[in-house]
Amino acid sequence: MSGDCKWPGCGDLASRQGWGCPTHWGRLPVKIRQAIGHSYQPGKPADVYRLRAEGSARDFIVREASRTAKVRKGGSGDTDPLV
Ligand SMILES: [Zn+2]
Repeated sequence: MSGDCKWPGCGDLASRQGWGCPTHWGRLPVKIRQAIGHSYQPGKPADVYRLRAEGSARDFIVREASRTAKVRKGGSGDTDPLV
């Protein structure tokens, strides 16, 4: 089956551009959604553009996950030292 949402731990039907479920598709930044949408070729194997777009989405998800983890751990309300 090639219809699984690419968001980690989801596994719902990837009804949006072959990438993910509506919920997680909506969490991606517009730029990444456009890149995935433009490179989407139903029935064809992923080409370099598609893989690059999916890579951007993966990077975004990893960043989001670490940000969320930081927020949960912290709570001091201080500004992020990395910014
Ligand atoms: Zn999903």
